[in-house]
Amino acid sequence: MLRYRAFLAALSLLALCGFSVEGPRGGSGDAITRLENSPRWSAGKASLASSGERGLGGGLEYAVDSSLCELEFVDGSDCSDIRRVLSGALGQWAAGHPALAFTDVTGRITPAFPLAATGERGQGAEIDFFAAGPKRFPPFRARQVTGYTIFYERRSGGLEMTNGTRRRGVARIESADVRFNASRCYYIALEAARAHCLHFPSVALHEIGHALGIAHPDDAPQYNLDSDDRPGNPIAIDCRNPARGLSVSLNLDGAAAAIGRNVQGAGRWIRGLTWDDQAARDALYPHCAIEKVERWSGAWGAFAVSQADGVAGRASLRETPAAAEATARQACRDAGGEACRLVASFEGCFAYASGQAGIVATAEAARDDAARVDAVLACGEAGGRDCRISADFCAFEPLTGALSP
Ligand SMILES: [Zn+2]
Repeated sequence: MLRYRAFLAALSLLALCGFSVEGPRGGSGDAITRLENSPRWSAGKASLASSGERGLGGGLEYAVDSSLCELEFVDGSDCSDIRRVLSGALGQWAAGHPALAFTDVTGRITPAFPLAATGERGQGAEIDFFAAGPKRFPPFRARQVTGYTIFYERRSGGLEMTNGTRRRGVARIESADVRFNASRCYYIALEAARAHCLHFPSVALHEIGHALGIAHPDDAPQYNLDSDDRPGNPIAIDCRNPARGLSVSLNLDGAAAAIGRNVQGAGRWIRGLTWDDQAARDALYPHCAIEKVERWSGAWGAFAVSQADGVAGRASLRETPAAAEATARQACRDAGGEACRLVASFEGCFAYASGQAGIVATAEAARDDAARVDAVLACGEAGGRDCRISADFCAFEPLTGALSP
């Protein structure tokens, strides 16, 4: 029986180190059991196009529906740009992995939704990319739902793993449909960034993770796995026994492509896959000849303020605290600050709250919403009245524009 599961990328709530997988349907059990039984694409030689067999053979065959070409791109991007971006995003997920590849079958296999199809034919390619508006796809009635991926799985007697072993009772993913919300505007070129539009490559990078069976680490931190409790460093995955050495970590870093919130900003694409994203991939698709690819390993941000002039400077995406601090001070001086004072340098997210009578407070947290809440609370505890957030940002997001807190 073919079953389906849906994942939505919403702007709301939460962000976190480590990784998480979808786990078996209706599955309970601990995070390790969940990883071992999580649905995934099966290894194998035969391709869908040549023999109708669904799995990693011949690469995961994907088709781009013409509906994507009708998305509104504020930078004038067209169909060929969209296909180039999708190919690049898929390539990031495949990089360094000997058994994971993606093959464009657009024009050879027509995209289709498996639930609407009859029989084995008409299920579309292995991964289909569509755009849909809220009328055709009701989850997009919520504007903040930017992308939506559904995968379809079938229980299997034994699933062939990418490390050459077989696992019983693990469901095979047979098809995945990735949809983009057609009621939103998009851009690809960074210089065309608009706050209300979505960065198409970033949303694509996130959704493709779902098509591989990867979940949001921030949805259920009790299933978030890591080899240590430190965010932002490589996670060693044993290619013979991928669960070995992993344990639950509540310490999340917010910068992974798989994080479920704020998938629309360009930061995710600029960072590319993090070590956590790679670990999620390699835990589901273990292989003993995976090449190390340089991955994102964290960034520093800093905030400097000149209270007398009412200006501030920010820095993000810097490799060291010192570099971040120097950039923030300079940005503050460039904004006209005479007495620029460093407030904080940090990894993760930062918030600056101010209340009446010059009371200010700051907070740092893995998640931007947590930093905001903590800063307002700290301002209140310091005796501030009407405390409000006057600046907040994350070290792993690119910053644009000047700031007057
Ligand atoms: Zn998502």
